[in-house]
Amino acid sequence: MEHIYLDYGSTAFPKAPGVGQAMADYIDQVGVNIGRGGYEAAYHTAEVVLDTRERLCRLFGWNRPESVIFTSGVTASLNILLKGFLRSGDRVAATSMEHNAVLRPLAQLAQSGVEVEIISCERDGSLPPERLEEALRRRPRALVMTHASNVCGTLLPAEEAAALCRRYGVRMILDCAQTGGVFPVDMLGWGVDALAFAGHKGLLGPQGIGGFLITGEMAMEVTPLLAGGTGSQSHLETMPDFLPDRFEAGTLNLPGIFGLRAALDYVERQGIHTLRQRSIARTDQLLRGLARIRDIRVVGRPGTEGRGAVVSVDFLHLDNAQAAYELENRWGIETRCGLHCAPKAHQTLGTYPQGTVRFTPGHATTEEEIDRAVSAIEEIAKERE
Ligand code: PLP
Repeated sequence: MEHIYLDYGSTAFPKAPGVGQAMADYIDQVGVNIGRGGYEAAYHTAEVVLDTRERLCRLFGWNRPESVIFTSGVTASLNILLKGFLRSGDRVAATSMEHNAVLRPLAQLAQSGVEVEIISCERDGSLPPERLEEALRRRPRALVMTHASNVCGTLLPAEEAAALCRRYGVRMILDCAQTGGVFPVDMLGWGVDALAFAGHKGLLGPQGIGGFLITGEMAMEVTPLLAGGTGSQSHLETMPDFLPDRFEAGTLNLPGIFGLRAALDYVERQGIHTLRQRSIARTDQLLRGLARIRDIRVVGRPGTEGRGAVVSVDFLHLDNAQAAYELENRWGIETRCGLHCAPKAHQTLGTYPQGTVRFTPGHATTEEEIDRAVSAIEEIAKERE
């Protein structure tokens, strides 16, 4: 049976052309470290790493490649940012659409005296800016917010949020897991203090590489979570206070960076608008197909306006896990069911505790695959009428 991969929201597959080759070439033909050895191959590798930082700056509207920090992904980045920034007695605001990559570090911080305020979103996942402003008037030290929900795809008002944060003197941390390489982000123009990205989703790169971009000012307010060798100022006991070294202790994931660079090259050449159009066309097709089917509820916003390529379905007369199992078993359709690491988002959308079956098309999803998915969903729903 052919597989129909509709789980791009979890990770992109296939990756961008050239990613696997770039990683293999690095491992087989280069293989050396950076920032330590004084030889040609090390300098060349350092240039590739810098070039990758520069590409990420272009993608996220930022102008300082040294303040692009590599980590293993969004989870690691958000832990570094939140735990390094917030102290006992601080207040932090987050939305009800957050992933556990935000909620769990915040729950740990709450145990050590950080006050956490969760701003409730609407039943379609949207966040009215007035509600956000109300929370910011209480002057939390930071707002941490996802740019788009991984459960229903709804975009949150990142640009307005950044402007409000400026007005109230609040640091803004943006989770771009679902929007990096998909929607335009203008860190400098919007005035975002820090943003976290994953290499393996919309950027179409490998797993295990991601990072964050941070302003120089905020960087000095974040205590590095990791301390260790950087190849610089080795005589000091403390971490260097310049970037990226302040946050990059230990050996970087260089195969991942080489793969990510190949992915960024592809994304730049295609253009994020073109890539988004491809997945949004399939999302539109899916939403239109599902609108004809009774006995299911599609959560989130009604159309593709203001949403990413994420469609979550609640089967009204069938356990969602059973539906996902049948989709895979009978038609080879690969989805993700459950709570998608975002329990409060499901509470907001009215799909807690049963969760949903999530379909996330991507750059390589075909029209025929979506037709087959719609027919399969229709058949499953009809059988249970
Ligand atoms: N935030 C959101 C909105 C996500 O969708 C995800 C992953 O699904 C994450 C954070 C965590 O990303 P990673 O697993 O790359 O650390």
